[in-house]
Amino acid sequence: MIDSLPVVDAPAPADIPADPLSLLEALEGPVAWRVRGRDRTRVRVVTTLRHGNEPSGFLAMQEWLRSGPAPAVDVVCVIANVEAASRHPVFTHRMVPGRPDLNRCFLGPFEGVEGELARAILDLVEELKPEALVDLHNNTGHNPVYGVGVEPTPEVLGLCSIFGLRFIWSHLTLGALLEAVSVCPAVTIEVGKSGEESANVAALEGLTRFVEAERLFDPDLRAADGVAIHDPERVRVLRMPMRAMLEPGRRLVMATVPHDDADLTMPDDLDRHNFDVVEKGSRIGWVRGEGCPLRLLDEHGEDRADEYFERRGDELVVRQPFTPIMITVDAEVAAADCLFYIVHAVENGAAS
Ligand SMILES: [Zn+2]
Repeated sequence: MIDSLPVVDAPAPADIPADPLSLLEALEGPVAWRVRGRDRTRVRVVTTLRHGNEPSGFLAMQEWLRSGPAPAVDVVCVIANVEAASRHPVFTHRMVPGRPDLNRCFLGPFEGVEGELARAILDLVEELKPEALVDLHNNTGHNPVYGVGVEPTPEVLGLCSIFGLRFIWSHLTLGALLEAVSVCPAVTIEVGKSGEESANVAALEGLTRFVEAERLFDPDLRAADGVAIHDPERVRVLRMPMRAMLEPGRRLVMATVPHDDADLTMPDDLDRHNFDVVEKGSRIGWVRGEGCPLRLLDEHGEDRADEYFERRGDELVVRQPFTPIMITVDAEVAAADCLFYIVHAVENGAAS
């Protein structure tokens, strides 16, 4: 039973193992570590390992804690789903098998291990009243660094810009941490594909800028590496209204040539097109059987596949240009959850 997540002092740099697996193994459960800053009256929160198979944020935290950190303000590092991450093989389980996804538990009912932990994290954030919160995640496919949030305010876009210049304005109600945090500007950052060095580097660089900046929302401030700390106007805001899913009972295969026993074959390098515009007339796959095996559900749950895709013989062809993100090329994940999301660029409210 998890009643609360007490904040304790972070281990000294010399006590942080050089091997991240040793650090993970030394953790008995979720932790909230405080690193004292120059200005002790303010605090920022970084959360990671909400998903056990998304280690970049954890690796960045380990590296940063080992470096002898001297943050501008107090920083509280929350390492959440240690249990899922520690399951062998480590860093391969999104959640503990058979149990809920922690990042779907933040809107209640706060029951079970994941629900109680979600409640404890929310209580902690409310008590700390941080000036900002950043939640670090990885994708399963190739994506550039981008932020996700529920409202593109200048503060949220500014936080996003510390890591990258793309922001997904999500309207989905999933029960993610970000949907439940209201005490401070907060953003989820997807730093790239799990296991890729570029994702680990992006997490560490962004984390370092976030914790070392004297002031987060100052347009004149630059990080040591020259990146602007608050640059909301340059962030490209994309609205995420639709998710592409496979029709129930249909079979999906990811391959470069059409498969005889698949209802839908999609190219296995499709994730190279994340955030690109897919032009009208492009072929996005091959189809067998009747009709279109793809559904495109908008935020009202209506299927709009006919507006975007059409059959031309065995090919599935694009009817109007769209920008896909979070394309997954793992056929099992795609069939169970979602193949990709479609986004539209919107006017950036922070731009003057
Ligand atoms: Zn995640």
